[in-house]
Amino acid sequence: MSIKENLHQVLSTIPQEVNLVAVSKTKPEEDLQAAYNAGQRIFGENKIQEMTHKFEALPKDIEWHMIGHVQSNKVKYMAPYVSLIHGVDREKLLKEINKQAAKNERVIDCLLQMHIAQEETKFGLDASELAQIIDNTLAEAYPNVRLVGLMGMATFTSDQDQIRAEFASLKQHFDQTANQLQDFSILSMGMSGDYPIAIEEGSTMIRVGSKIFGERNY
Ligand SMILES: *Cc1c(COP(=O)(O)O)cnc(C)c1O
Repeated sequence: MSIKENLHQVLSTIPQEVNLVAVSKTKPEEDLQAAYNAGQRIFGENKIQEMTHKFEALPKDIEWHMIGHVQSNKVKYMAPYVSLIHGVDREKLLKEINKQAAKNERVIDCLLQMHIAQEETKFGLDASELAQIIDNTLAEAYPNVRLVGLMGMATFTSDQDQIRAEFASLKQHFDQTANQLQDFSILSMGMSGDYPIAIEEGSTMIRVGSKIFGERNY
């Protein structure tokens, strides 16, 4: 199947109000252009340098989402153009995003990444770190950042019940936080292998790579 067919296949199985981020990391610009020509406008990358090259080469109405782990010293390279940063997993990073956004006279939309998986290897905040960041945000510590939601990754397992429980816990954190922050509206959860479960558990934004572009060769 072509990229266009894969894309339409995914879109045909998700509710209209769920946003699709096409995860194009490691893929060549031609593949992104093919998805763009089929109507896709939101792309997700996990390396700032690669995303910046693609931003420069591809049409300017693309929304670029940073979905990977972000090093603070690289925020400056994407601050002029990034649409949404999904992986804010520490307050130090939020501070740096706020600083670089101010330099660019922008307000940058961010998601806080929560640690919901059992795997130690995955990044993310715990409940108390989340509460601390929300308190400081309410105290207007980060005027050039708009916190718009949460992101999380489930454990890589075939146990569907476990995946479902992890997404449900993220949804609970989301609902609690949405009571405190008026801009909170995005719950980014679900990838190629688990997005149907994520949508059942309340996802509003899925990040799908291999199902659209094929397997990645690193
Ligand atoms: C790579 C990646 C995805 C997409 O993974 P697929 O299994 O190819 O759909 C989604 N989210 C994050 C954070 C990723 O790094």
